[in-house]
Amino acid sequence: MRTGQQYKDSLKDNRCIYIGGERVQDVTTHPAFTGIIDTVAGLYDIAADPKNNMTYVTEDGTIANKIYMIPRSREDLQERREAITTWAEATCGFVGRSPDHVASFLASFAGASHVFERGGQRSQDNVVNFYKFARDNDLYVSYVIIPPQVDRSKAAHELDEKYVAMAVFEEREDGIVVRGSQMLGTGSAVSNYLFCSVISPLRPGDEDYAISFAVPMDAPGLKLYARPSYAQDKPSTFDYPLSTQFDESDSFVVFDDVFIPWEHVFVYKNIDLVRAQFHETPAHAVGNNQAQIRFATKLKFVIGVARKMAEMNGTDKFPQVQEKLGELASIASTVEGMMLASEYQCIQDEHGLVRPNPRFLYGIVGMQDTIYSSVIKILRELAGGGVLQGPSTYREIIHPETASDIAKYIRGGNVDSTQKIQLFKLAWDIVGSEFGGRHQQYEMFYNGAPFVVKGYSFRNYGYQEAVKLVERFLDSYQLPHDEERK
Ligand SMILES: Cc1cc2nc3c(=O)[nH]c(=O)nc-3n(C[C@H](O)[C@H](O)[C@H](O)COP(=O)(O)OP(=O)(O)OC[C@H]3O[C@@H](n4cnc5c(N)ncnc54)[C@H](O)[C@@H]3O)c2cc1C
Repeated sequence: MRTGQQYKDSLKDNRCIYIGGERVQDVTTHPAFTGIIDTVAGLYDIAADPKNNMTYVTEDGTIANKIYMIPRSREDLQERREAITTWAEATCGFVGRSPDHVASFLASFAGASHVFERGGQRSQDNVVNFYKFARDNDLYVSYVIIPPQVDRSKAAHELDEKYVAMAVFEEREDGIVVRGSQMLGTGSAVSNYLFCSVISPLRPGDEDYAISFAVPMDAPGLKLYARPSYAQDKPSTFDYPLSTQFDESDSFVVFDDVFIPWEHVFVYKNIDLVRAQFHETPAHAVGNNQAQIRFATKLKFVIGVARKMAEMNGTDKFPQVQEKLGELASIASTVEGMMLASEYQCIQDEHGLVRPNPRFLYGIVGMQDTIYSSVIKILRELAGGGVLQGPSTYREIIHPETASDIAKYIRGGNVDSTQKIQLFKLAWDIVGSEFGGRHQQYEMFYNGAPFVVKGYSFRNYGYQEAVKLVERFLDSYQLPHDEERK
């Protein structure tokens, strides 16, 4: 188990990140990244503290972070959930790609390494060895598994240039050289390794794009183009509590002839295996289980904000407000309940691996585009102009010329102005700041576009039971005989 400080030290390398027209010299001191780095370091400290019960004994007898557990029973899923919840609570559910996300994929790849045998013994060994390396060093791995958004009507090989999407440029005796680009590396700027592959369907002719591998963030030729920071230039954490601490950053990734040694290549020019790694192993289900545990925690947090806002404004006794709070409660409890149901009714495969029940897991996945926007709409409605009546910064609260006005006029029925402004600034960071807007985009797209996630629920519901119910009922009555018709 590594400490937060060890995590921070691990980021002091030669990684290449561009932001604001400049190359970042040291990610650990750059204001766009220090907030999230402190937060992730805090997560590592939490995991390293024995009282938080976040470690387990691995198959090799070592002690590791539970985020790397390979679930083999319902109890394992429960232990994982408790560990993931501990981290999610520390970030109020607002860090989507914390280290537990891709760790869930890697654990499932290794647990189901037989799937990789199709790519040869080397493929299978590489997956297991990299998993153990990541687990034993408690690494933060992020991923890019979507080709760049250029022309979605075309397959990767049909684009006007071959190396727009990430592809094999050269095969060498000691490894491969990769050229092209991929989106969208959430947390990549502050992670240790990048898992790279493609989850979008590939077509015949796309073989050069059908790869998966891991690469250290400081590999020569690996370039990250980070979007604008929402943490930088903010007056204080009091003013933007989420932006300043939880902006995990998203980066567009360019592979400028990046060399990947064979031992880090998991899938090589194999369209079938690229798909199978996600869906024939438990990886997609276990990775999304992490996402839903985090999401359930986030909804709980947002509802807490809504409830406190209503109390502060003295509106919580109005039946209309209680109806809105009740709607929020229904949404949050549905998500939490489905997440728990997927764990309770988990499925064990013939290799002893366990995955959350796909009906309930993908039931929520299929609604991810609408759930969060509905919650945000209600929060906006409850907040009214309160999220904008506060002063521009915390400074007006303490400045001698303004302090008395603020204290007198901007306050709640039951709290003083500082408490009221603090809560309403938090609410604005959820519904209205750039950070808040990005989160709406995130919840809508992190698992694929809305039409893609509906496809997951379509494929995973298991319609046989439903159809059988209908057929049994249809069989219970027939066309009437002639005599009966008379
Ligand atoms: C905040 C954020 C963080 C992300 N983090 C990560 C990450 O960490 N790692 C990672 O790999 N990816 C990440 N992603 C990328 C994410 O996986 C993609 O956004 C997602 O897969 C959708 O792809 P796209 O954005 O290219 O949208 P598109 O696929 O271009 O879809 C956009 C819209 O176009 C339409 N459309 C496109 N194709 C079709 C079609 N075939 N049929 C019908 N309609 C279509 C739909 O209306 C769709 O909603 C992130 C995205 C966001 C927004």
